[in-house]
This record gives sequence, structure tokens and C-alpha cells, in this order.
Amino acid sequence: MIIVMEHQADKRHIDRVIEEVRRLGYTPHPIFGTDRTVVACVGDERGKDRIQTLDGLPGVEAVVPILKPFKLAGREAKPEKTVIDVGGVKIGGKEIVVMAGPCSVENRQQVLDTAEAVKAAGAKILRGGAFKPRTSPYDFQGMEEEGLKLLAEAREKTGLKIITELMDAHHLELVERYADIIQIGARNSQNFFLLKAVGKSAKPVMLKRGMSTTIREFLMSAEYILAQGNYNVILCERGIRTFETYTRNTLDLNAVPVVQKLSHLPIFVDPSHGTGRWDIVAPMSKAALAAGADGLIIEVHTKPGEAVSDGAQSLKPSKFRELMDDLRALAVPLGREVAPAEAEA
Ligand code: PEP
Ligand code: MN
Repeated sequence: MIIVMEHQADKRHIDRVIEEVRRLGYTPHPIFGTDRTVVACVGDERGKDRIQTLDGLPGVEAVVPILKPFKLAGREAKPEKTVIDVGGVKIGGKEIVVMAGPCSVENRQQVLDTAEAVKAAGAKILRGGAFKPRTSPYDFQGMEEEGLKLLAEAREKTGLKIITELMDAHHLELVERYADIIQIGARNSQNFFLLKAVGKSAKPVMLKRGMSTTIREFLMSAEYILAQGNYNVILCERGIRTFETYTRNTLDLNAVPVVQKLSHLPIFVDPSHGTGRWDIVAPMSKAALAAGADGLIIEVHTKPGEAVSDGAQSLKPSKFRELMDDLRALAVPLGREVAPAEAEA
């Protein structure tokens, strides 16, 4: 249910509503819009009629049901787009934000060189996995805290923000200490305990779509995070499993306009995992922008042939720079913008 407050409702009215919602055994989520405040109430659907009785409280305009299953992630409770401020980088606004970097953090030189290169091309956020979800237990599993330290050093040197994957709730405090954005990978997209854990974090979360989850399930996973009080969730379409084998996954760009319609949360696209092939990362990045994506996350490696993971889908810095130039031009007719590149040395 959503309790829509009158325009002139003040803090006292809102606090009273919040208190009454709690008393009825529901969790209140106040959403302060530019126009008015609404209080979304989540809890046991069966007792929702009790919330209806709050329509007589002072300052309440109406109590209406939320019809969609994603109560907090949906546009019903919050029609305005969510803009997430990551230390000054605004995600979900006019600017198309690009996150770029290696699949895995491998060594100091690799991270620092890649960070400098992606920053020069206009990326705002450095990606790099220190905990890697690998199909084989014999493959490289990540540098763990050593890797996180290298990312932090790259942030220090370049000013880029850091996104890195969290695979297990046991590592939450550790990853929170270093990351600006916590990534939840496709394989953990429906790991509900992990989603609840990051829902209690103060750090923004990027939630990747599971490789066989529907858009509805994807939004329900986001709902788990929001329901714990963390509203700073970025969604990411990264391709789904289909019968097609020419590409690693099938990048479901349908998800972009669908999510934009259903949800106020920013939606990113990962054309690297979505295709598995560096040679089609550029066209699919452009297609993602045309479809309305709020940003991209792209794998870049200084020596893709030597990468310990995902070399085949990683762009060299020069190709990444070219792509960023093309995206910058494409953003203009779309009414968006991409950060400028630094002059080449
Ligand atoms: C990654 O970003 O390196 C990654 C493992 O992505 P996904 O969870 O989408 O497979
Ligand atoms: Mn990868």
C-alpha cells in the first residue's frame, strides 16, 4: 500500500503516519518526491486492509494499493527517476556514466595502467573483481583483499570511484571498506541472504541480472535490497542464456526500456558479458545507449591476450577510447551526455 500525503503535509504528519504504520506491523518507507511525500508500506499482504484505515489521519490524502509485485522498485510508489550520487558522480541523471576496467584485478601495474587509460577516455568508475565467481574451482579466484587495496590505490591516483564484486556476506565489511559501489554478480542475483545483507549497507549496489532470470524476477531481487532500506540500487542487464552459442550470452536490450518503464532505478548495460566478444562490444554499447541505458560497464585490459579472465571480451585501451568518442557523439541526439576525454599525451 502507498500512503499519499497531501502537498501541505508537514514533518509531524509524516512522522505520525510512519509511527502508525509500524504499530500495524508494517515497514514504512517514506519517499520524498519533489512534488509530495508518499509512505510505501511493505509487509504481509493479507493484512493490508488495516493500512487502509490510516486514510483518516491528518495530512493523508489517499491510501492506495500498489498493484505491481515490486513495491519499492516500481514507479507506482516513486514515479520520478532515482539519481544516485556516488561521491559526486551522478548515476541515473542526464549523464551516461561509464564504468570500465579489467574483469579481474591481476597486479598493481595492470590496475594502475588501466585506471589511467579509462579515466583519460572519460570513464568515471573503475571496475575490477577481487573476488571472482569462476565456473571452474581450478581457475583464478581473485586477489581478495590485496586486489581491493590495489583498486583503492588506483582511486587515490586517478580520482575514479571503485566498483567491485561481493560474493559472500562474510566479506561485506571488507568490501565495504574499499568499494564505492558493491557489485552483486549474475550468479548471486537470487542469493536472497546476500541481497538482504547489502540491503543493510550504506554503499550503493549494482545488481546484475541473473543469466536465467526474467525481468520480473530481476526487479524482485532489487526489491530485496530496497526492502532493507538501501534505495541506492543500480540495475544491470548483462545478457541471458539462450540457445544461441555464437555469443557468450544474448544481450537482452528489451530489458532496458522495460525496466525504464516499470522502475525508477537506473539501468546499466554490460556489453562485455552480454556478448563475450570484444569485436561486438562497441555496436552493442551504442545500441544500449539508443535503448535508453543510464550507463555502461565495460571490460578493458591493457593486454587482453594475457588476461587471467575474460580476455576475449576485453577492449584494449585504444579501442575503448574510440568507443567513448563515438558514444559521446551519439549521446547528443539522445538528449544525454558522456564525460569528455582528456587530451591525448
Ligand atoms: C563480472 O562483472 O566480471 C562478472 C562476473 O559479471 P557477471 O556477474 O555479469 O557474470
Ligand atoms: Mn568478467
